Amino acid sequence: MTRLVYGFGGGRAEGRGGQKDLLGGKGAGLAEMTRLGLPVPAGFTIVTDCCELYAAGGKWPPGLEKQVRAAVARLERTCRKRLGDPKDPLLVSVRSGAARSMPGMMETILNLGLNDRSVEGLAALTKNPRFAFDAYRRFITMFGATAKGIPREEFDAELKALKRGRADAELAADELRALVQRFLALYRGRVGAAFPQDPWIQLVDSVNAVFGSWMAEKAVTYRRVEKIAGLRGTAVNIVQMVYGNMGDDSGTGVAFTRDPNTGENSFYGDYLVNAQGEDVVAGIRTPLKLAALEKQQPRIYRQLCDVKRRLERHYREMQDIEFTVERGTLYMLQCRTGKRSPAATFRIAQDLVKEKLISKEDALQRIGPADIERLFYPVIDPKISRSDLVSRKIAEGINAVPGAATGAVVFSAKEAEAAEGRKVILVRRETSPEDVGGMHAAQGILTATGGKTSHAAVVARGWAKCCIVGCAVLDIDYEKRLMKVGDTTVRQGDVVTLDGGTGEVFTGEFPLVQPQLPEAFRTVMGWADAVRRLKVRANADTPYDARKAVELGAEGIGLCRTEHMFFDTEERRLAIQEMILADTVPARVAALAKLEPFQRADFEGIFEAMDGKPVTIRLIDPPLHEFVPHDREGQEKLAHTLGIPAEKVERRVAQLHEANPMLGHRGCRLCITYPEILDMQVRAIIQAAINVKKRGIRVFPEIMHPLVMDAKELRILERRTRKVADEVLKGAKIAYTVGTMIEVPRAAITADRIAEVAEFFSFGTNDLTQMSMGLSRDDAGRFLPDYVSADRAAVFAEDPFQAIDEEGVGALVRWTVERGRATRKGMKMGVCGEHGGEARSVKFFHRVGLDYVSCSPYRVPIARLAAAQAVVEEKRK
Ligand code: PEP
Ligand code: MG
Repeated sequence: MTRLVYGFGGGRAEGRGGQKDLLGGKGAGLAEMTRLGLPVPAGFTIVTDCCELYAAGGKWPPGLEKQVRAAVARLERTCRKRLGDPKDPLLVSVRSGAARSMPGMMETILNLGLNDRSVEGLAALTKNPRFAFDAYRRFITMFGATAKGIPREEFDAELKALKRGRADAELAADELRALVQRFLALYRGRVGAAFPQDPWIQLVDSVNAVFGSWMAEKAVTYRRVEKIAGLRGTAVNIVQMVYGNMGDDSGTGVAFTRDPNTGENSFYGDYLVNAQGEDVVAGIRTPLKLAALEKQQPRIYRQLCDVKRRLERHYREMQDIEFTVERGTLYMLQCRTGKRSPAATFRIAQDLVKEKLISKEDALQRIGPADIERLFYPVIDPKISRSDLVSRKIAEGINAVPGAATGAVVFSAKEAEAAEGRKVILVRRETSPEDVGGMHAAQGILTATGGKTSHAAVVARGWAKCCIVGCAVLDIDYEKRLMKVGDTTVRQGDVVTLDGGTGEVFTGEFPLVQPQLPEAFRTVMGWADAVRRLKVRANADTPYDARKAVELGAEGIGLCRTEHMFFDTEERRLAIQEMILADTVPARVAALAKLEPFQRADFEGIFEAMDGKPVTIRLIDPPLHEFVPHDREGQEKLAHTLGIPAEKVERRVAQLHEANPMLGHRGCRLCITYPEILDMQVRAIIQAAINVKKRGIRVFPEIMHPLVMDAKELRILERRTRKVADEVLKGAKIAYTVGTMIEVPRAAITADRIAEVAEFFSFGTNDLTQMSMGLSRDDAGRFLPDYVSADRAAVFAEDPFQAIDEEGVGALVRWTVERGRATRKGMKMGVCGEHGGEARSVKFFHRVGLDYVSCSPYRVPIARLAAAQAVVEEKRK
């Protein structure tokens, strides 16, 4: 019979940590902690497959009931208590736990097993009726809300009416007993039946509620945003209850084994004395720092430090743990790999290597492209003086996630989602899992309550999104859509700036700048560079971009789009427009002569910045209509400036019109028709190289023809290129090469012929994808969502314009590499389409044997890391 239930705790575990897909993260963690001999309460896990089967069939799969009954019996034996026992009841929690962490997205029910009789037994046994009835009212609330859909606020309203401003702890036992009666009546009124007294029924309904929460809207949204797919559902963990709310020697905490913001090796977390775990996570009460526990309960603190050490040694990774102390006894409730800031990701990877817990290769494998991207998130410009900041500071909360954000205030997740590209800051009293869509859309998040491990903080940290919590001075009025902060009123739409690093809130907008990279980033990237074979270049069109690229580790320029230089200033734009409008070759040559000095100067700047590194310069590529105005007013203005009739401009623009410009007169076809453009560009390149070389800088220009489709076509261009270059060189020596982009399927297919002419190939995978798939790179976004999803049933798992389509376009790349090198042994080949900066694609390009990838400067580190990971993966295979 298939095993659907796995026991743990009480010194015995049937599962293990590696079975996350089956047991979920929580179940696997509990099993593994049991195996490690850590104090784990007893319980069992219902496997994730059951959730999938329940969702499909609406009932438990065959065998599950029998196995759960057996597991309950075993649990009762281990705990020496029975569920529903009127004298000494066993109480359990029912907790969700999928293979991937989804903080707060699914349901938990605590104190299951209480009923009208067992609550009395618990009260008598603990001599603490307050505690017993508090536990029962919590159970009724959670069960009612989760399993029966009664709005939680209705229970909360009853509780609030009873409290009349008092703290929970001030409620007397009799008041709680009466509250339970009101809750039971509320339940009966809403459900139309009495609250179930049979623990088995309670258990079955609770398990089903957890299964159901997998498909709840908020959970589905979270998975969509986080791109979590391919999971079978959530596991369900039924765990013996332990209580952090049994007095001052009890408590509950959430901790990270290292600081999740900086990565520093210190114990970092929150602890609430005399409280249940949900109180910490919900951020309802502001917790104590974990360090305070060292003074209050030194024995427990030491025990926790030992747990931290053992878990890190075992998992060789920073852990996020949950624990409860019941009357001085520590229980571990959860452990999982901790989410961390990007800076911490690098620091922890580096430190674990130094501590000999992992190898450098392991460290490289642990870093993802998003970690690098997020390192470049902004901070408030340090040039802004402290006094300027202070003059606009209105509040200070807890600095939950670093980074700065500026935007217009909105007070609901829905409005944040509707912002559509406008920068907004989501302000809430607290966030709940329902808010994830809006949190994702917002630039930053600000909440009035909560600690560093509250929902808002945990979710925002995962996204490296600026987040301030526990900002108690905010007096938020959702109805009026405003908040009062001292004397200041901030209304919806008013702009504020958050500094997630300090926790400060300012009115108005401050300029943001990119952060300094942590030292560990350089160390780890150094390890990547030592491992990788694939070179990484940058796509850069200006000396400024070239310098940035070198700073970020680029080893050359793989694509300089020369036409971008034409747009740079009015003067340049005019010259290219004049060239386009020219009727005769001499007129065109005259206009081009005006552009030449600009191009030459730009090339000199780029060669200088690259200081001996290769620079691939592509000749003009876009269709000419992109350079001329299409509106009447623009055309008249241009005509006036050039001193020609407006009709002439209009006529020429009409002439340039193409039904399919992407398949039209563009790329190298322009230089076939107008070779004077090639002449000017090649002259500028070679002359710039000569000038720079005279200054003692080595130069390696690679002249590249775009959109080539045929060897003979390239031969015409190559001959002319060499002729012009040789005329400029007049015997001087510049090691230039002439090559082509591979962007047209026909060029890929005839690569063996084209390689007879080209000295190098550079795959323009943007156009190659467009032309191979027959999808417009500019318009496909409208319908691609119908094709692309992480869902297994979707046509493509990823957008083929972002991540290379290995099966189709990738096959053309493979073919081209083989055929090209069959003709020209060891031929240099790279890629300069967007795919060159996408991690998975980079690994593919490594495998097919390209020499380099080229991408935008900020993605250079992503490519460097992915290239190293490709080597590690190859070795480990
Ligand atoms: C390409 O097509 O991949 C390419 C790099 O050229 P562009 O994006 O300029 O068309
Ligand atoms: Mg292209």
